[in-house]
Amino acid sequence: MPVPVVAVIGAGQAGFQAAASLRDGGFAGRILLIGDEPALPYQRPPLSKSYLAGQSGVDDLWLRPAEFYAKQQIDLIYGDAVTKIDRGERRLHLASGIELSWSDLILATGAGCRLLPVPGAELDGVYALRTLPEADALRQRLNGSSEVVVVGAGFIGLEFAAVALAAGARVHIIEITHHPMGRVVSATVSRFFAEAHIGWGAEVALGTGLARILGAGGRVIGVETTGGRRIPADLVLICIGVSPNAGLARDAGLAVDNGIVVDEYLRTSDPAISAIGDCANFPTPFASSRVRLESVQNAVDQGRCIADRLSGRPAPYEKVPWFWSDQGDLKLQIAGITTGHDNSVLRGNPADRNFSVFCFRGARLIGVESVNRTADHVVARRLLAGKPRLSPEQAADESYDLRGHARRLSDH
Ligand SMILES: Cc1cc2nc3c(=O)[nH]c(=O)nc-3n(C[C@H](O)[C@H](O)[C@H](O)COP(=O)(O)OP(=O)(O)OC[C@H]3O[C@@H](n4cnc5c(N)ncnc54)[C@H](O)[C@@H]3O)c2cc1C
Repeated sequence: MPVPVVAVIGAGQAGFQAAASLRDGGFAGRILLIGDEPALPYQRPPLSKSYLAGQSGVDDLWLRPAEFYAKQQIDLIYGDAVTKIDRGERRLHLASGIELSWSDLILATGAGCRLLPVPGAELDGVYALRTLPEADALRQRLNGSSEVVVVGAGFIGLEFAAVALAAGARVHIIEITHHPMGRVVSATVSRFFAEAHIGWGAEVALGTGLARILGAGGRVIGVETTGGRRIPADLVLICIGVSPNAGLARDAGLAVDNGIVVDEYLRTSDPAISAIGDCANFPTPFASSRVRLESVQNAVDQGRCIADRLSGRPAPYEKVPWFWSDQGDLKLQIAGITTGHDNSVLRGNPADRNFSVFCFRGARLIGVESVNRTADHVVARRLLAGKPRLSPEQAADESYDLRGHARRLSDH
């Protein structure tokens, strides 16, 4: 019998996890892990946090040292892109000319920064932040910068802003909506973080877009907002979100709609091909419609789920989504998906910089956003993994024992 070959395209968080968990779970066939970045698989969260701040080094980024792959018999090919999937022949074509056969294929191609097509976007001093080389360049530039403009107040933009402020730069954040991180957090948490950044000394301009980036001699010297205001800058970070890397899948004729469309088993429209991580659009019991999530938890848990299925232990993907963001001295942790809540209650007090927002849709708890309150976050994940049955009154009552509540539910 021919040896089964699982090929994983994309050697980021999700692809790495799928390969590692396959071997861990006893898969005896060949595992190919192919990444186009010229480095070992690494974790991205520190790129906008400790690594950017110079508090951790490159060796802290690697998901595993180089020896791991040889030891686990994972054939890691990096610095080479897959350019074509041949579904009929079950072959992959790589940019280097290599061709590889597969019996099962996992797409873990991640996402890429969205570009802002404004005049001046090509100037020296304008950055995006997704990859290690981008973080290195940004870290170096930040050292000599005194005026920093961050375009887009999402998680990464705000994390970068906090690091830039701590490094002594003047920071201007411009955000086209009126709600920082508004795509994913409640109005309460959005407002709280806007005020926190202002408190740290950043200028936060909401409802403001970027019209153009100004330069002299090829270098950035400022930006002009859609309102016509000019802000000086020697560094501009564009952080307006990402788009899923779904071109390969689309070219191969797979269904694509805000990511590669998969079912609850993470199978694409071709059952021999799966998709996981930032590139996958999947159904979940934690939202009223399909979602595409950009988080380490999602990448890791989907990597494990697909490895289990390909090792003969199929189960639908039903993990509680969770996420974190570190900004200054604030740790935000989100359990569940709070988008679409119609009622929320506070536990704790934002003035103490220690609180959670419990978000409900109707009577059902759908997510909890915690600031410097890890205990609530941990309980929230346990609650959401079952049928929470927690009332808004119980959530808001600080004397109510949430941990006991979660324990009672899991005992039943
Ligand atoms: C700066 C930053 C900070 C973050 N902070 C947090 C955080 O605090 N908490 C959190 O939960 N999440 C955070 N994230 C998000 C998290 O890192 C991602 O959700 C996670 O990396 C997704 O893993 P992935 O494997 O799906 O995608 P990726 O990690 O992007 O990996 C995909 C890989 O596939 C490669 N690839 C694409 N096409 C091809 C091809 N044709 N051939 C070969 N290789 C290909 C890509 O180059 C990439 O290396 C952060 C992300 C960034 C950028």
